[in-house]
Amino acid sequence: MTRMIICIFAVIILLLVLLFSYIYIIIRGSRNAMQRMAYYDQLTGLYNKARFMELASAKLEKDSNYALVLLDIANFKFVNELFGYQKGDYLLQHVANTCNQMLQEEEFCCRDNSDRFALLLHYSGKEALTDRLKQLVDTIASCQLDDVQEYHILCNCGVKIIESFSNKINVDVFWDRANLALKNAKGYHDSTTVFYGDGLHDKEVKRNEIEQCMHAALDNREFKMYLQPKVLLNTSAVCGAEALVRWIRPDGSLIYPDEFIPVFEQNGFITDLDMYMLEEACAFLNRLEKNGYADICISVNQSRILFYKADYLNEIQRIIHKYHCDPSRIILEVTEGITMDNLDEMKVLVRELHKMGFAVSMDDFGSGYSSLNILKELDIDELKLDRVFLSDTAEKEKRDIIMKNIITLARELQITTVTEGVEDAAQAEFIHSIHCDIGQGYYFAKPMPEDAFELFIAGKTEE
Ligand code: C2E
Ligand code: CA
Ligand code: CA
Repeated sequence: MTRMIICIFAVIILLLVLLFSYIYIIIRGSRNAMQRMAYYDQLTGLYNKARFMELASAKLEKDSNYALVLLDIANFKFVNELFGYQKGDYLLQHVANTCNQMLQEEEFCCRDNSDRFALLLHYSGKEALTDRLKQLVDTIASCQLDDVQEYHILCNCGVKIIESFSNKINVDVFWDRANLALKNAKGYHDSTTVFYGDGLHDKEVKRNEIEQCMHAALDNREFKMYLQPKVLLNTSAVCGAEALVRWIRPDGSLIYPDEFIPVFEQNGFITDLDMYMLEEACAFLNRLEKNGYADICISVNQSRILFYKADYLNEIQRIIHKYHCDPSRIILEVTEGITMDNLDEMKVLVRELHKMGFAVSMDDFGSGYSSLNILKELDIDELKLDRVFLSDTAEKEKRDIIMKNIITLARELQITTVTEGVEDAAQAEFIHSIHCDIGQGYYFAKPMPEDAFELFIAGKTEE
């Protein structure tokens, strides 16, 4: 009897020990899982931002001479679109492993969100850090995403150097500064690294000012359409003009597009401005027609962002109807960069624009990594040779041969050729001699307001 009772007790104790062990394991497991969720990124196994910031804060309180690097994969959404989400995840894991492997003692990294990573690295000079980052992006670029289709992976880095740390500045500020540098590191064709500096801060202040007043400026019609004549080289007649935006502030100061277009391209407001400019061009075409200039065409710049808008074609159709405009008098200028990135989509779009009656021009040809393939693939009406052709005088002989052959090729494909940036008579004569159709540049006329343009075409310029 006693033995039996002891046995029962022993079994009960054993069961209790097992039960408590089980509960302990479950609790520890869920605590670990919660910790993993709280501290680690699920996909890559790297720290998440919250944990990274905690560690960075603790580290920098004791030690300085670090650099906070934010790295992102350029055009990551194209990777997902082109190769599928699985390959996208694979690339993120590859980036995570590469970052992890390059870490030295007392350094760490995290994945923030989507395709953005952060690294806290020792800092012993710009050159050494730039070399390390170059190695990092080169290793990332070595990732083969597809056996057939080649895709060059580019990464951009924004860096904030932290040489002394006081408790007054928190790590969030360093993060924001590295992020600001990253925003300025968006190259189209190369991986780029930008270090945060005072210049960037001033730029950011300006950007904020611009963003604060851009909506009101559009409502108040502060954006003015200037027109730069396009001249037929055979006859010297004006055949059209390019619409170029100017921002005239209420105090009368004039801001050039280079200052605000990049900001609008980043925040998306450019789509509103481009549609506004198209309306201005339509209204002006009507005015010209009424005044007896029915053969002038207006070229309107179209930002790359427009082509990602689902209702883009409807919107331009709406504008054409509103002004009862003949679309064949409007030339839509698209930059070379966008067409290279999305050739297939562009083909469809150009076809649709043609169906609607618009002419399409390839702008800035020769300013980047131009491909003659574009001429074969896209059914464009006009090719605009970028002004770098004329301004680059280093290897003039070679340049002349290249220009001549591009123009010959385009002509044979029945594409009208325009050379931009013509600044003197010699350049005008040269492009005429190689059979370029149209010239545009300060030699003929600078961009001017609508009234001045009308006087110009009427041959009533004041000079
Ligand atoms: P772009 O489309 O290549 O326009 C030509 C630019 O070259 C204009 O600068 C024009 O003033 C300038 N230019 C013309 N002739 C000469 C010359 O002989 N020599 C030199 N050095 N420059 C010349 P602008 O008006 O400052 O415009 C700069 C850029 O801003 C434009 O380059 C275009 O990319 C963008 N932009 C201007 N207006 C608009 C717009 O309404 N929408 C969009 N999306 N972009 C615009
Ligand atoms: Ca243009
Ligand atoms: Ca251009």
